Amino acid sequence: MSILLTGLAASSGITIAPAHLLVESDLSIKKQHTADENHEVARLHDSFALSKTELQHLSKRAHELLGQRAVTIIDTQIAILDDPTLQKKIIDRINSHHDTAEWAVKRVEDYYLSIFERKNDNEYLYARATALRDVTKRVLSHLLNVPLPDPGLLDHRAIFVANNITPTDTAQFDKRYVAGIVTTNGGRTSHFTIMSKTLSLPAVVGVKDATAIIHDGDLLIVDGIHGKVIVNPTKEEVEHYRLLAGKFIQEQQKWGALKDKQTVSADGRRFEVGANVGTFADVIDAQEDGAEGIGLLRTEFLYMSKDELPTEEQQFNAYKRFVSAMNGQRVVARTLDIGGDKKLGMVALPHEDNPYLGFRAIRIGLARPEILRPQLRALLRASVYGRLAIMFPMIATIEEFQAARAILDDEKEKLEQAGIQVAKNIEVGMMLEIPAVAVMAEHFAKYVDFFSIGSNDLIQYLFAVDRGNQQVAYLYQELHPAVLRMVRQVIEAAHAEGKWVGMCGEMANNPYAVPLLMAMGLDEFSMSSSQILRVRSLINQLNTRKLQPLVHRAIHAETAAAVQELVEKYVPQVKL
Ligand code: PEP
Ligand code: MG
Repeated sequence: MSILLTGLAASSGITIAPAHLLVESDLSIKKQHTADENHEVARLHDSFALSKTELQHLSKRAHELLGQRAVTIIDTQIAILDDPTLQKKIIDRINSHHDTAEWAVKRVEDYYLSIFERKNDNEYLYARATALRDVTKRVLSHLLNVPLPDPGLLDHRAIFVANNITPTDTAQFDKRYVAGIVTTNGGRTSHFTIMSKTLSLPAVVGVKDATAIIHDGDLLIVDGIHGKVIVNPTKEEVEHYRLLAGKFIQEQQKWGALKDKQTVSADGRRFEVGANVGTFADVIDAQEDGAEGIGLLRTEFLYMSKDELPTEEQQFNAYKRFVSAMNGQRVVARTLDIGGDKKLGMVALPHEDNPYLGFRAIRIGLARPEILRPQLRALLRASVYGRLAIMFPMIATIEEFQAARAILDDEKEKLEQAGIQVAKNIEVGMMLEIPAVAVMAEHFAKYVDFFSIGSNDLIQYLFAVDRGNQQVAYLYQELHPAVLRMVRQVIEAAHAEGKWVGMCGEMANNPYAVPLLMAMGLDEFSMSSSQILRVRSLINQLNTRKLQPLVHRAIHAETAAAVQELVEKYVPQVKL
């Protein structure tokens, strides 16, 4: 019997090959003291020097194999080794605590990780923590004389299965043999995910217990499109996936041609497919992946890598960079959306029993104008460098939208009075994430320039289901007729007022939802870049007029499963 494991689809494509487990080296250390501090310091220097030589070699390899981004990641590790503060901290520990070199390294690593990880949910610090972990492993491997696993030793075609794949592991890959990747850790935005994309390797990350369930040599199917791993598949499953893999490659070859064209349905309706971005690196991906704009700029990243609130000037420079880079394509910036699951070190939030229903997003913005106002000023100033739109997250009532908009107008007026230029045509909209707003959409539509439907939160609140809780994930149903009715109502209400509607939650790239959304008239889709060409290709193939009976039947279906079946019947290509 085959076993089906699921995770996050990190990098597209399907592959079938035997598993090769990358077992981590045992680098555990105990607290140990020394009487010869000088000897320990000398050992430390040697291990740093050896690590640096290895990393320089890997950086060169990465340059040939993986491109600039991988080189940057490895060079960050070299910079960590070269950082005199880090070295001094370790040496101080050896001298003052009489620690052995390895124990001092471990203690200092723990110290920095505790700082990085205190501010969880921060991509930048997460990256720093990953780099520090990776480099510490290398230093410890020299101090303990325990070699690190070497993915470069693989001499047959196989799929790597590991808890983590580090950027340096990736640089050691022999492309002839690595067929795909499965990891237990990692998210869509982890470094590894980004690099597996560069290597065009099918990958599924966050597969719970993969290293415990999968054994060396087990045959695996890795479906990096849907985030599935099948262990010891049946003959039929292998056949089925071989066909899918072939079809996917054919499809993918066609996508490149779409990049510079507009997204138009088979019956000539124009749609916009934009990218969700959270860092500047995402903007580069967005452009490479055929984005027609930025449908969601999550501004949280600016606040997350600091101990203090970013200044207006820092924000202005960042927004200007984003807006200019998009060369006149629209960038929809969302004001700070913290609270709920997103915490910030520098904004003290009270403990809440129900943080998702509590003090978050625009609720914080309105209560703490010293946070919202500088952000709006920075955005307004950046607006002259391209085409900027601004939206407020988690609006629940018309009063809230009006209050936020009044602050924006006030800042705009002040800037203009001070002789600072602001674009004339800034669209001001809101995220639609709360069911009450969908119910009242006809009224909201009079005040906004656009809605962007945040399906991730909208579904969470509609079904009273925590979007991050695996136990209740079965209730999180993007295709449920209740969601579809709500979305349709919002689109109709907006269009009646001549306003446009986008969607920037995950539902916007669900291939089963896309035909329904386009047929309902959604104007803009926004998603992580890796999904863009796939969705654009699907839109190109479909005729919105011919899909109307499908919408009608889906809206009147009883369950999400029934909707899925209907879509498969009308649009067989979504199955891939
Ligand atoms: C959403 O809620 O759908 C959304 C896009 O916002 P976030 O995922 O950042 O909450
Ligand atoms: Mg949201």
